[in-house]
Amino acid sequence: MGDYFIADLHLGPQRPHLTDIFLGFLNNRARHAGRLFILGDLFEYWLGDDAIHPHYQPVIDALNKLGSHGVTIFFMRGNRDFLLGEQFARLAGVTLLDDPCVVNVAGETTLLSHGDIFCSDDIGYQQFRELSRTPQWQTEFLAKSIEERKIFAEQARSASRDATRNKSDSIMDVNLQTVVKSMQTHHASRLIHGHTHRPGQHTLKVDNRSCQRIVLADWRENGHLLICNDHHCTPEAFK
Ligand code: MN
Repeated sequence: MGDYFIADLHLGPQRPHLTDIFLGFLNNRARHAGRLFILGDLFEYWLGDDAIHPHYQPVIDALNKLGSHGVTIFFMRGNRDFLLGEQFARLAGVTLLDDPCVVNVAGETTLLSHGDIFCSDDIGYQQFRELSRTPQWQTEFLAKSIEERKIFAEQARSASRDATRNKSDSIMDVNLQTVVKSMQTHHASRLIHGHTHRPGQHTLKVDNRSCQRIVLADWRENGHLLICNDHHCTPEAFK
């Protein structure tokens, strides 16, 4: 039992081995979870719930099956799959979470986030993030043909790769002041997030309280999981 956390799988037809690891996880290990939290970027990109790539159908089926085994599955959208919506949630049997949100995890008030909101030094990205989360932008985008959306997504990915190359390491990481402020606002003593692909467990002071920031590992060769129970969170890699 316990709460299981994963993020940044970046699943897609170009990395089928990760989809296989994920399906194996959903059909076995994950059945021991009380709750499964997917904290964003499950998919490399998402063009809309009306444009689901056939590669993702087994994932949707396996999520559903896991839910029928009594595991509650929560899904927070990341920066890659931010267009994922209620239709997907219904198909997969998952509950969408706002980013950030507060959940009691192993006895602690825990703030959950994909993590990109904390990268506040990356001003260009934050501007795009704000714009692309407005209903107007999303309605306009989803009105385009799937072909047009795909072209846009591919351009955005290569533009972000180019921009990333020119940004310093510190700009690409979280801003600690932004983290502290958010933990204060939510009275959280623990933060769990992904996005930066810099896994680790950090302690930090918030209002003189000793708090914890856990960064989830992204999936590359292995699957990665964080298990929280009995006041402890433990990362684990698996194949
Ligand atoms: Mn991300």
